[in-house]
Amino acid sequence: MWTVEDGIERIRSRGLKITSQRIAILKLLEDRKDHPSAEKIFREMKEIYPTISFATIYSTAQILRDAGLLQILSIDDRRVFFDPDPTPHAHFLCSKCGALEDIPLEKGILNRIRRSVPHDLDAVQVYCYGICRACSGREITGARPRKATRAH
Ligand SMILES: [Zn+2]
Ligand SMILES: [Zn+2]
Repeated sequence: MWTVEDGIERIRSRGLKITSQRIAILKLLEDRKDHPSAEKIFREMKEIYPTISFATIYSTAQILRDAGLLQILSIDDRRVFFDPDPTPHAHFLCSKCGALEDIPLEKGILNRIRRSVPHDLDAVQVYCYGICRACSGREITGARPRKATRAH
């Protein structure tokens, strides 16, 4: 994982300005293990900078992605998620509760994809969809037809 200092260095090395807002976004994302939605980061940033716009959040996220610090996940067609872990891995989205989880991706799979694509790949995203374990557990107990247990 990267630190705020790494982030500042990467932004600077791309010839971009270090603004206090960019540093604040780096601080919000540093060492984060979850996958905050863009809206969540927007809300958190609004507490520090009440006038900040969603467009500023998104354009900063794109800068961080281009600098190799962040993945922008479009796994959900209603929300965009940020992943501060730039190393290649797959993601799972529960279609019931919306939980988003990391799934390890073997290097062999990645290499096979890279070999099968006749272009220079910058990134590979693998999105898996289904029902998470917690939800399917609830599903089984909730959906099972209740037997009438009458004591006769
Ligand atoms: Zn779920
Ligand atoms: Zn992830």
